[in-house]
Amino acid sequence: MGDAAIEILMANKITHINIEGLDVELISKPGLKNIYLRVKPPEGLISVSAPSGVSLELIGEFISHNISTINQAREKILSHSPASKPEQEYITGSKVLLWGRPCTLNVKESSGRSYTIKLTDEGIILAVPENSTHEGREAALNELYRSELKRVLPDLIKVCAIRVGVQVNSFSVRNMKTCWGTCHIRKKRIIINLQLAKKPPECLEYVVVHELVHLIEKNHTKRFHELVAKNFPDEKRVKKLLAESHFEI
Ligand SMILES: [Zn+2]
Repeated sequence: MGDAAIEILMANKITHINIEGLDVELISKPGLKNIYLRVKPPEGLISVSAPSGVSLELIGEFISHNISTINQAREKILSHSPASKPEQEYITGSKVLLWGRPCTLNVKESSGRSYTIKLTDEGIILAVPENSTHEGREAALNELYRSELKRVLPDLIKVCAIRVGVQVNSFSVRNMKTCWGTCHIRKKRIIINLQLAKKPPECLEYVVVHELVHLIEKNHTKRFHELVAKNFPDEKRVKKLLAESHFEI
């Protein structure tokens, strides 16, 4: 967001804050008695109206308290948005994305009861039990994504933390529905969405840098964006790649 946009928003008493990795639109109104929360279509923007003078901390607590309701509402909105893609199929010959490239799926029925997945030079081999389900196949693929991220993240976080100049205590990989990454500032912990393994590797690097910069600057302020740009000059191109999916950062 450029300077001009920030000025206009300030004049309308609307600001954006980052809570639990979610971008929250905050509207302060002098006459209000309570805090009101709305999740707006089509992008699932979280909008909070609050009486003037309420602390950001209180609003943060309010959001955290209602986080599961918010996520449910967002999922509902995003799944109905016209831009949502047809469901991915997981059958032999299907193409699934890995690090930005299409990878051929080879599905084999096995006598076992579990799903096993293996990445080979020829593609991904997915062994499924009899009566396998779409959800089971998807979960197996997500485990491949999770293990790919766990393979590359320790070194990537180390390099990026040195570049940004912060210390990170830990990281975890999760399948999240609404955001690419989040940062637990007090615990110095970053959480990365396993769906990033579908995107080109620079997307993961960008999200890591973004979350690490939150350890210096909590909100998406002008200073925050300057720090991200300084530590990740290719931001514009990567943001475009990330915007193809309905996640925030
Ligand atoms: Zn952020």
